[in-house]
Amino acid sequence: MSTSENWIDRGLTHVTKTYGRYPLVAASGEGCWLTDIDGKRYLDFLAGVAVNSLGHCHPKVVAALQEQAGKLLHCSNYYHIPQQIELAEIICEHSFGDRVFFCNSGAEANEAAIKLARKYSADKFGGDRFEIITALDSFHGRTLATISATGQTAIQAGFTPLIPGFKYAPFGDIQALKDAITPQTCAIMMEPIQGEGGVNVPPAGYLQAVRELCDQHELLLIFDEIQVGLGRTGKLFAYQHDAIEPDVMTLAKALAGGPPIGAMVAKEEYAAALAPGTHGSTFGGNPLMAAAGVATMQTILTDGIIENCVAMGSYLLEQLQQLQSKYSFISQIRGRGLILGMELTIAGGDIVKTALERGLLINCTAGKVLRFVPPLIVTTAEIDQMITILDGIFQEL
Ligand SMILES: *Cc1c(COP(=O)(O)O)cnc(C)c1O
Repeated sequence: MSTSENWIDRGLTHVTKTYGRYPLVAASGEGCWLTDIDGKRYLDFLAGVAVNSLGHCHPKVVAALQEQAGKLLHCSNYYHIPQQIELAEIICEHSFGDRVFFCNSGAEANEAAIKLARKYSADKFGGDRFEIITALDSFHGRTLATISATGQTAIQAGFTPLIPGFKYAPFGDIQALKDAITPQTCAIMMEPIQGEGGVNVPPAGYLQAVRELCDQHELLLIFDEIQVGLGRTGKLFAYQHDAIEPDVMTLAKALAGGPPIGAMVAKEEYAAALAPGTHGSTFGGNPLMAAAGVATMQTILTDGIIENCVAMGSYLLEQLQQLQSKYSFISQIRGRGLILGMELTIAGGDIVKTALERGLLINCTAGKVLRFVPPLIVTTAEIDQMITILDGIFQEL
């Protein structure tokens, strides 16, 4: 029995069955490559689901973690934490935001945004104005409030009653959004590009129209940039493509280059609603994670990461389009920067399994959309290798 098989057996015994895991036992990683416990290398175009944007074990992130680990791991938010302050300063300097609340995951960042929207609205307009409109096919997390916010019945099934106060409108349909607004509405929350829902890009002008709608009705505009933020679309934040600003934005995944962190960014007027005692997190923004966040942000901002994302994004798009011209079962390529989706007319699950066998990590969302979210440091040579493997699989279909 190989070392992998031994771990897989043990993994099926005492760990919850919440994930249908692939037969890969992760051991180490470097750049765009993940190595399993038996020494097999995989070209990683999933990047821990858009977390490892700087590649695996980026030396600057590792050095920041090692240095901080020797000084202070945790001290609680009763005290001021320099690394957390620095990270908040960097995020605010480069975004619309004035203040940042730190937590440990994307779902928690969205929970904070939902609480902030309700609290701001309750303080200003009274407690009857609590509804948040989100998009169908969205994904906002797995806690009870965030599955309630997620416009996908499959994710909600079996967990009712959901948290009241969420309504859904089809993504990209401005009229449907208008029709969903009632006197109870306090906010609109959406991903600028839907990740888990199938890499769905809204029509041009849609996000601006959503911003106008929020202004007209005094609604908070919350952008969930947990997957698309921090350089992945070719700008630091996805909202920057549309010359608008949200009032609140949530971040997580790539923010600390691998370690868990979440953040809710807000303009002063709204952030003020979360006064002392209204919200909190034991671990949120602790010295270790915040140090990794600072190193990650500095690297994204100064090492040509976003420029590389733009260049490699258009190269990958071209290569995927060439595959599309060869294979009739590829119906559409969409996305922006290095979040690209390939919609198929057939199921994608088996393609992902075959790719894994051949040393390529990709995934499939919404049943038939292959999703490509490689590290932003990916090279043309690695893209070529990926395309060769994919082409080989497609030829045999
Ligand atoms: C991953 C993701 C989340 C949830 O993040 P967790 O860290 O898993 O809680 C929320 N929103 C979007 C858009 C995501 O991609």
